Amino acid sequence: MALSALPAITSSRIEPEPRKGSTPAIVTSIKRASYPTRSLQFLRKLEGKSPGACSNVESVRNDRKLQLQVTVVGAGIGGLATSIALAREGHAVTVLEQASALAEVGAGIQIPPNSSKLLLKWGLGPLFEGKAVEPRGITFRRWETGNAIGYTRLIPDFRSSFEAPYYVIHRAHLHEALHETAVKLGVTVKLNSRVTEYNEMVPSIKMQDGAILKSDLIVAADGVKSAARKLILGKDNKDPIRTGFAVYRSTIDVQKMKDDPETATLLREPALNVWIGPQRHVMSYTIAAGKSFNLVLSHVDDTDPATWRPEDSLDNMRAQFEGWDPVLTKIIAMIDKTIKWPLLSGDPSIPSWISQSGKVIMLGDAAHAMVPYMSQGAAMAVEDGAALAAALSHVHTISDLPKALSVFDIVRRRRAGQMQEASLVNGKIWHFDDGPEQAARDEAMEPETKGLPISESPNQWTDPVTQAWAYGYSAEDDIHSSWNQFKSRLF
Ligand SMILES: Cc1cc2nc3c(=O)[nH]c(=O)nc-3n(C[C@H](O)[C@H](O)[C@H](O)COP(=O)(O)OP(=O)(O)OC[C@H]3O[C@@H](n4cnc5c(N)ncnc54)[C@H](O)[C@@H]3O)c2cc1C
Repeated sequence: MALSALPAITSSRIEPEPRKGSTPAIVTSIKRASYPTRSLQFLRKLEGKSPGACSNVESVRNDRKLQLQVTVVGAGIGGLATSIALAREGHAVTVLEQASALAEVGAGIQIPPNSSKLLLKWGLGPLFEGKAVEPRGITFRRWETGNAIGYTRLIPDFRSSFEAPYYVIHRAHLHEALHETAVKLGVTVKLNSRVTEYNEMVPSIKMQDGAILKSDLIVAADGVKSAARKLILGKDNKDPIRTGFAVYRSTIDVQKMKDDPETATLLREPALNVWIGPQRHVMSYTIAAGKSFNLVLSHVDDTDPATWRPEDSLDNMRAQFEGWDPVLTKIIAMIDKTIKWPLLSGDPSIPSWISQSGKVIMLGDAAHAMVPYMSQGAAMAVEDGAALAAALSHVHTISDLPKALSVFDIVRRRRAGQMQEASLVNGKIWHFDDGPEQAARDEAMEPETKGLPISESPNQWTDPVTQAWAYGYSAEDDIHSSWNQFKSRLF
């Protein structure tokens, strides 16, 4: 594989700085970003500095393709999405899942337009009906009062700008829709099928029961604790690390909120509400066609998850948000069950997502675990699947496979690495202690709360440059234009 002949990917990591107070070490500096954004202008103005630039993609189709036998390890969102994208292109796909039933941890998930556009193209639209919710907007709220300090209008702006909706949905509903679509397309999904060994040269996998399965390509979508990552990266492997952030994930029956006029106001229309404050934030929205209110409560926690006691979670969660907006704390008091979850982030500078043989690749959280502060982890996995199918559309003979994969590798490491960074940047922007940076942030977001024209914003959903980069992106177009860019060096 001619990886060395291709341009190096610039690391998109945030520059480490000495640890300050209780801020997690992984997110201590946001002086500059490697992705297109004007969300940090408010800080540059504090220092008197200037912005970065945007990139473009163009679309190219290639209709002559080779049909491959592909084994996908893991039936999470990444594995199932990839199986759909590949099956649609005529590849024969088998998905192996270790669990005895398909399930997802946590309740809600946001599907931003860069992902929904692909899912709708793949035919999931009818399966979302009566399940997905399309919020009208996202309101950022001051932690102690609940006053609106930032706003992104999703309807009609996102649909008209990105030709796709911004959905929120119950994870189980998304997972079922992906599974049903995959099976309809002829994908074989095998449960109780734990992969225990890889032979990257054949390539083949060995299962727990000793069975061996050969294929042309193995796609490891085996999640944040990926075993395949160790095979692919060998001595260069860096497992995702704890960021120092943890979340409580909970849902409430909306009826409870409707019974109280104060909390009922948050249900007037489908919306996302995010309270941001010192070292913490709360992301919320309704799912299950508006029947359930989903909350993700983020806070700083450096302790080892092995020491966490589930029975303490509810009290600890309430203590973390004492003194916050009385409407929010009322909602938190309604929660009767919660799961505490550590947030990990992978290293965006890992040298490759492809094994030496060019026959085993990884994607999804296995390749790019990220904090959920851009709500893009699963969206990146959906893009990975689409990008892989687009890359394989350029494969005419099996000997072309490593070339197509190296383009996939370059394109996806750049895109996902930048999204890992953007996610950490939100973990900084949202969590300022009250002071000059928080005041500058809130002042910079104020115009959007008044419906005034915006040229930049610390709210990365609103910031026009970040918005176009995050939501207007086409994984397929990026692959095709990159293929054209690199092909003279590959052949
Ligand atoms: C609090 C929180 C909120 C989030 N919110 C959003 C959001 O709003 N929007 C968004 O896009 N993303 C969000 N994310 C991120 C998103 O949940 C993940 O990025 C996504 O689910 C990862 O999917 P995956 O398929 O890569 O991995 P996983 O879901 O981890 O799936 C991996 C699968 O592989 C299987 N597996 C592992 N090893 C083996 C083996 N040896 N053999 C067979 N099977 C195996 C596992 O059992 C599992 O089913 C959020 C994450 C968190 C923590």
